[in-house]
Amino acid sequence: MDSEALTPLSTSVVHQAPTTNGFHLVIDALKANNINTIFGLVGIPITDLCRLAQAEGMRFIGFRHEQHAGNAAAAAGYLTQNPGICLTVSAPGFLNGLTALANATTNCFPMILISGSSEREIIDLQQGDYEEMDQLNAAKPYAKAAYRINKAEDIGIGVARAIRAAVSGRPGGVYLDLPAQLLSQVIDAELGRKSIVKVVDPVPAQIPSPLSIERAIHLLKSAKRPLIILGKGAAYAQADAAIKALVEKSGIPYLPMSMAKGLLPDNHAQCASAARSFVLAEADTVLLIGARLNWLLAHGKGKTWGNAPKKWIQIDISPTEMDSNVAIQAPLIGDVGSCVSALLGAFDSDLNKDNVEWTIAIDERKSKNLAKMAQTLAHNPSPMNFHSALRSIRDVLKTRPDVIVVNEGANTLDFARSIIDMYQPRKRLDSGTWGIMGIGMGYSIGAAVTTGLPVVAIEGDSAFGFSGMEVETICRYKLPITVVVFNNNGVYRGTDVNVSGGADVAPTVFVKDAKYEMMMQAFGGMGFTASTPEELSEALTQSIASGKPTLINAIIDETAGTESGRLTSLNPSTAASSVHQ
Ligand code: ADP
Ligand code: MG
Repeated sequence: MDSEALTPLSTSVVHQAPTTNGFHLVIDALKANNINTIFGLVGIPITDLCRLAQAEGMRFIGFRHEQHAGNAAAAAGYLTQNPGICLTVSAPGFLNGLTALANATTNCFPMILISGSSEREIIDLQQGDYEEMDQLNAAKPYAKAAYRINKAEDIGIGVARAIRAAVSGRPGGVYLDLPAQLLSQVIDAELGRKSIVKVVDPVPAQIPSPLSIERAIHLLKSAKRPLIILGKGAAYAQADAAIKALVEKSGIPYLPMSMAKGLLPDNHAQCASAARSFVLAEADTVLLIGARLNWLLAHGKGKTWGNAPKKWIQIDISPTEMDSNVAIQAPLIGDVGSCVSALLGAFDSDLNKDNVEWTIAIDERKSKNLAKMAQTLAHNPSPMNFHSALRSIRDVLKTRPDVIVVNEGANTLDFARSIIDMYQPRKRLDSGTWGIMGIGMGYSIGAAVTTGLPVVAIEGDSAFGFSGMEVETICRYKLPITVVVFNNNGVYRGTDVNVSGGADVAPTVFVKDAKYEMMMQAFGGMGFTASTPEELSEALTQSIASGKPTLINAIIDETAGTESGRLTSLNPSTAASSVHQ
């Protein structure tokens, strides 16, 4: 009893017991969970954490703006099912990262935004600390979960909770608040070692109930015009073989949402992309796999979906996704892999027997539309338009199906999505659920760092501007990224005029004939100007082969492009568009 009581005293007197601190424990906790890369931006109070991460064998990728570090982390999470980490300083750095956190949550990408914060006692009394902000509460509405760790011995459990929250169930963005004081807290090394948690089974299989499978099979069997829609949740799930087997064994035509392109190759016989309007309007039974019935699918109702009554089967890991826009007759709650495998196990090969007419009708539409598109793509206007430029990119990328494509813009996004075919899963990252601009360089860097594969970012000139400074980051880390800027001198197009006759250019117009390629050259990368499809093809081929940071300034007819691309109907005033032309 006496000797036990003396133990702690003697330890503290001797001061010899090895110690650790908050800095080390954060790194140890991440590494214990196979997280080996941090995307971030240094500053008070996290600079030493970044240095230490590097010293401890982690990769630290430093950005010029936190939003892009956050987007890189989200892309890493989407591609690996392991949460990407974005590390920022307090208040302004945190807020810059918050856009990416919110975007990740919206897209169901797992990422963790870790921000340093200032002293809680001062924040809570609003006494005006350096970069004072109640970050935890600011993050909550935009995150799947938000936690603060106050004690060094809780770092292991805090990081474990953040990881599990990010990847289990519907993935999303998690905020982790690390007060400056926490990082410098010193504790006994052995206690620290024991506090580290390796998360067991962070992405558990979620098996659908047998009854829900029966319901779905019943609907599929009675369908005359069935359709499968694959969303980015299906791509994320990495259940590629099961999905392929379901599509091919059932013979059901499918539509990939933009980021699900390549889950099966876009030139697959059952791919109905070229007859999209037709199949949406005519299908009588729709099986949604990891795709939400949000605005990107016209909310499952209205003109897009035609007059034929629909029966809905929906596979989603989130129970509350069901009935979000229309009543779902056969909800399948579970992970995509488990649900698809259960469906496969339950139906026999005659599922497909009634669908011949449906398949023929779709094939007819497809050939008609593909012929029309081929004609449009065959034109060679000078300067290039979106179509002729994208044709040349399409032809190069067809020879490199391993390339990851990042795509944003208005017209550049709309046209590239339908013209550029994908052949492998998870090779396309784009504006996503929000239709957001600004993901370009962040996603590109996240994808290149995570996979080591070449990335081609197809960017509107406006979209590129949001993250353009990150070309320095691309050059600094010598990443195999080619940025193609579709330069039409403005937002939507470059020809708008200021109707007041004043000296300022119109709100949508940029500097004419900007030399974007020089931005990459400024930091040691390669720069090209491409005025013809041949020049574009040559530059792109060379840049992908070299693996060097490259920017290709693709000169596009400044009169090409429509207001808001295909989202014209979302502009609040159609009258306003008469002002523009
Ligand atoms: P898209 O925009 O491509 O249509 P969405 O982002 O709208 O795709 O939908 C993705 C859906 O996938 C979300 O509702 C999400 O809950 C779901 N999801 C994500 N991961 C999984 C998974 N592993 N298993 C099942 N559903 C998933
Ligand atoms: Mg433009």
